[in-house]
Amino acid sequence: MESVYSICGMCTVRCPIRATVLNGRIAGLEGNPHVPAMAGRLCPRGAAGKALVEDRERPRTPLIRKGARGEGKWRSVSWDEAFDYVAEKIQDVTDRHGARSVALSDRGGPFRDMHRALLRGIGSPNYCNHDASCARNVQHAGISVTGLGRKDLAYDYANARHVVLQTRNIFEAIDVQEVNTLMAAMNRGCRLSVIDIRASVSATRADDFFLIRPGTDYAFNLAVLNVLVNDRLYDKAYVDRYVQDMDLLERFIEPYTPEWAESETGIEGFRVRDFARRLADAAPRVIWHPGWMTARYRHSFYVSRTIYLINALLGAIGTKGGIPLVNKPGDVGRKGLKKFMDLYPAPKEKRADGVGWRYNHFEKGPGLTHLLYKAMETDDPYPVKAYIAYRHDPLMGFPEPDRLRQIFDRLDLLAAVTFSWSDTAWYADVVLPLSTYLERESIVACKNALRPYFFVRDRALPPSCDTRADWEIVGGLARRLGLGELDYDSIDEIRKFQLADTGVSVYDFAETGMVQLSDAPVYRDRENLSFKTPGKKIEVVSALLEKNNIPSLMPCEPVSRPPEGMFRLTFGRCAVHTQGHTVNNRLLHEQMPENTLWIHPSAAEKPGIASGDRVAVSQEGYTETLPAFVTDGIHPEAVFVIHGFGHRLPVESLARGKGLADNKFMKGGLDLWDPAGGAIAFQEHFVSVRKADPDLKEDHDMLRKETA
Ligand code: SF4
Repeated sequence: MESVYSICGMCTVRCPIRATVLNGRIAGLEGNPHVPAMAGRLCPRGAAGKALVEDRERPRTPLIRKGARGEGKWRSVSWDEAFDYVAEKIQDVTDRHGARSVALSDRGGPFRDMHRALLRGIGSPNYCNHDASCARNVQHAGISVTGLGRKDLAYDYANARHVVLQTRNIFEAIDVQEVNTLMAAMNRGCRLSVIDIRASVSATRADDFFLIRPGTDYAFNLAVLNVLVNDRLYDKAYVDRYVQDMDLLERFIEPYTPEWAESETGIEGFRVRDFARRLADAAPRVIWHPGWMTARYRHSFYVSRTIYLINALLGAIGTKGGIPLVNKPGDVGRKGLKKFMDLYPAPKEKRADGVGWRYNHFEKGPGLTHLLYKAMETDDPYPVKAYIAYRHDPLMGFPEPDRLRQIFDRLDLLAAVTFSWSDTAWYADVVLPLSTYLERESIVACKNALRPYFFVRDRALPPSCDTRADWEIVGGLARRLGLGELDYDSIDEIRKFQLADTGVSVYDFAETGMVQLSDAPVYRDRENLSFKTPGKKIEVVSALLEKNNIPSLMPCEPVSRPPEGMFRLTFGRCAVHTQGHTVNNRLLHEQMPENTLWIHPSAAEKPGIASGDRVAVSQEGYTETLPAFVTDGIHPEAVFVIHGFGHRLPVESLARGKGLADNKFMKGGLDLWDPAGGAIAFQEHFVSVRKADPDLKEDHDMLRKETA
C-alpha cells in the first residue's frame, strides 16, 4: 500500500488529494489530510477519478486524422511522428504567415507556464483561455473597481457573518475547501443569501432565497445600493478613506429604489430593504461573491461591478471576514517560482483578438477567445492558421459549434492536447493524448492565498496507455521547434529550475505534497490598504473604462421578456459532473446519465408536459429532446439544463445520445458578448418547448437518431 500526495484533476479547482495505491491500482482517493479545509473529503467527481483511469474509450495513443475533419478516421502513430507532424505544420505556418499565426487556448489554471512559454518561444502573442466563456466579466469588473483581478482577493468564509451568492452556485459548482469552510461558518451562525433564477442546491441551503427574473440582477443590485446609500447604512469611515466619487454614485442610484426594481426583478421592495439592512448589520464581515461563471447576459459585467461596489460600501474589501487581499510569495517575505515564460521576450505583435490595441479596457493575459475565432474567420487583423486546443473544448464550450467548425476548416493545423475525447479533439488533425491526472506529474505551482503555498501533482500510477504528461508533450514539441530550453529529461529537473531562488527543495514536497510559505494566514492592515487603480482607491468611476468610452455607471434598461411561447435558455452546474468532461465517466454516468429540462408548471400545463415526459426543445429549426423536470423552483420565463450533455461522438458509449447540448441553441451567439466585460452572453437566447411525440415521424426519427 502506497500513499501519494497529488492534485485532483476532475475539475479546474484542483483540490489537494491523497491517493492510495495497492497492487498497481487506485485503492482510494481522499482529500489531503494535511489541509484542514479539505477535511479529508472530495466531491463526487473527485471520488470518481479511478473510473477515468480505467476508461478505455479515452484517446490512448497519439492519433493523426486520415479522413476528413470530424469523420472519425484515425491512424495511431508514434509520439515521434505526432510531434514531427505538429512541429512541421507550425513551422510551415510560421514560414508563410509569421509566428503570430499560431494560437493556443487552454482552460487556465496553475500548470500553464510551460505551454505558454512554448507559444511565446514560437513568437506568438495569441494565447487565450476559456475565460471568455466563464469569468472574464468578473475579472474585468474587479479591475475596474479595485485594480485587482478576481484571484487577487480571497473569500474569508471562516470569519464571515453574511455570505451572498449571485451567479455563484457554491454547493454544486464545488470547490471542496470553500464548501467545507462555508458550511462550518453557517453552523456557527453565518447567514447565507442566494439570488438565482432557480432553486439550486445553494438556494435550498439559504436563509434568504431571491428567485429573480432572468437578466435583472443589475436592477436588484442597484436597488440594494440605493438603500445602503439613502439609509446611510454604509461604512462611512471606510468609504471616506478608500472610495472615490461617492457623490456620483449617490446621484446615480437615486431613481433605482427597491420599489422601482420590483417590476423588473419580481422581488418585493420590502424584501430588498430588509436584505440591505441585514447586510449592514453584518458588515464588514460580509462576502457578496462577485461571481465565477458570469458569461451570462449582455450586461453581466455591471452585475459584478455593482457587487464590488456593494462590498466596498460595506467595508468588506481588504477586511478579515470579508474579501481580504491574497498574498503572493513576496507579500510574506518569500521568493516566487522562476518562470519558463521569462525565458523568452514578450512578442511585440498585436494580438489577433484585438485585446490591448483595439480593446484597451481588457486585460491582455488570456485575451478573448471568441474574438480570436473571429480573426480566424476573417483574417482580420491577420491570418491565424495553426491552433492548439490545450485541454480545451470550444466546440462544446462556445456557441454555434457548426460555425466554429467552418472557422476551424480555415486552419492548416488543428491540434488537440487532451486526456478525454471532446468534440474539438474529434475534429482535430492530430490528438496528443495527455495521461490522466493520476498518471502524470506536474510542474510546481503556486497558490496565492491568505497563506500562500507551493504545490505539486505527483503521479500515483505510471500511464496505463501510450499517453504523456504536459512537460513531456511540451518538451517533445519544443525540441523540434528549436526551443531546447523547454526540453527536459525529468520532472525533478524542471522543478529544480522553478524552485532555484525560493529556498525550497524538490524533496520538501514529499511529506504533504505542498510547502506553506507562511506560518499562518496573513491579513493586510485594514487602515493602510492600497488598491491597484491609478489613484490607489476604489473607483466608482473607473479611469480605465472612461478612457475607453465605456460607462462606469451604466443606466439600467428594462430587460425584454421572451417572445410569446418561448423561454430563455439557461444552464448551470451540478455536483456530479464537470461540464462535458465527466459525462462518459462510468461512476458519474451512473449518478446522472442525462440532463433534464427544468420548466415551470405554468409553462408545462398548456402543452401537458409532466416530469419525466420527453420534450422537444427547438430554435430556428434545430431540435433536441430530453426528459422534462416540472418544478416551481425555476422562474417561469426560463428553462434550465445542466451544461455538458448532448454528446454525439461514437467513441463515448455511455454519454452518446444522452441529453441536450445548450450551446447548439445559441444562434448568433459568437457575436453576442458583453462589450464592457468581454465575455460571451450565453443566456440571451430563447427556445420553444413541446412534448415529444414518438408517433410523429419527425420526432420518431429524431429520437432514434439521438439514441442510435
Ligand atoms: S472540487 Fe471535486 S472535482 Fe474539483 S478538484 Fe476538488 S475534488 Fe476534484
